[in-house]
Amino acid sequence: MTDLFKELIPPTRLMLTPGPSSVDPRVSRVMATPVVGHLDPWFKNMMDDVQAMLRLAFQTDNRVTYPISASGSGGIEAAVVNPLEAGDEAIVCVNGFFSERMAVIAERTPAKIHRLEAPYGTTVDPNDVRRVGKGRKIKFVGLAHGETSTGVVQNLDLYRQVADELGALLVVDAVATLAGVPLNIDKQRIDICFSGTQKAISAPPGMSPMTINARAEEVFRTRKTPVQSWYFDMTTALNYWGKDRLYHHTPPVTLIYGLREALRLVLEEGLPARWERHLQNQHALIAGLEAMGLELFVKNPKDRLPTVTAVCVPAGIEDAKVRNQLLDEFNIEIAGGFGPIKGKIWRVGLMGFSSQRNHVLLFLAAFEKVLLDQGFHVPAGAGVGAAVRSYLQPVAVGAR
Ligand SMILES: *Cc1c(COP(=O)(O)O)cnc(C)c1O
Repeated sequence: MTDLFKELIPPTRLMLTPGPSSVDPRVSRVMATPVVGHLDPWFKNMMDDVQAMLRLAFQTDNRVTYPISASGSGGIEAAVVNPLEAGDEAIVCVNGFFSERMAVIAERTPAKIHRLEAPYGTTVDPNDVRRVGKGRKIKFVGLAHGETSTGVVQNLDLYRQVADELGALLVVDAVATLAGVPLNIDKQRIDICFSGTQKAISAPPGMSPMTINARAEEVFRTRKTPVQSWYFDMTTALNYWGKDRLYHHTPPVTLIYGLREALRLVLEEGLPARWERHLQNQHALIAGLEAMGLELFVKNPKDRLPTVTAVCVPAGIEDAKVRNQLLDEFNIEIAGGFGPIKGKIWRVGLMGFSSQRNHVLLFLAAFEKVLLDQGFHVPAGAGVGAAVRSYLQPVAVGAR
């Protein structure tokens, strides 16, 4: 416990985790402004800003675009329970912890779920989806764009093509990719998509931006049974975020202020510049890690998620000891692995405000010092040197 009689002063950490990312001071500042009522005309106007900016970030004209009052996992839940009812079948591509969560949530509905698994660190083969879906009436194909637990990105267009062949909706978890990795909802024809505020958007955790297209809306409207979850039933929640602005639940007013400012930062920078920044900083990080003699977990470079890099823990080094020292000595937080890869990888997030050159160089220098202390031999200055050299050769965006 902290001392209950003392003012709370959280440490200032640099969050190089797969979320939450560090927050721009502009976002923190706006969150210290007065709370207003959620039915206040001023607030309702402000909701329009947030919806308009979310449409720009998602690159969509979808009417139904708003942040739901829940973390990214709530986004998964809403995306899955709204389309599914008894008698339906769906396919979920599982290549890590978060895509597995989508399967677990879907399996709690009365629908029949086909899980398609791929080893951690790889992508799910779209041909497997084709094979399993053949001859069945599949309601949706679900997958994680960026699988944060392993640092893998998947090419959405391949799954869209298969979903088209199956006549299925495409449900995409973009929690770790929106505003960090190229994603275009309308052009890529993604029917249901959700994200999280605390990853590449770099607002505090607690909201899940969501967008659904007209085709998915029609599926929701023609359900035979009510959605199993009252809170996540998008047809009723929309009365608040829709034209009528009717009370549904009290939204986190202060978080919405923060999200508005974070989205302003996203749009001021511009999506292409932002994607390029994420890619370049990750390339520098990778150059540095490899120069230090470390190995990446995702072997195929085109499968590497630009926002989260998974590094193998070298033999003889203890995962937690390294992370603890980084935190205690340098105020830098990175993450370990979970599930079958617990203790085997570190995950370094470079998302939103956290994705900065100076953070990459600071991290590599600190990481080298900690690894040396823990008994892993690193050639002095190798990581930082390689990272700096990589900045001299900017990479082209759009390669992914
Ligand atoms: C972080 C994350 C989630 C879960 O988000 P929470 O805010 O922790 O509930 C889901 N999917 C992906 C891909 C994530 O990275």
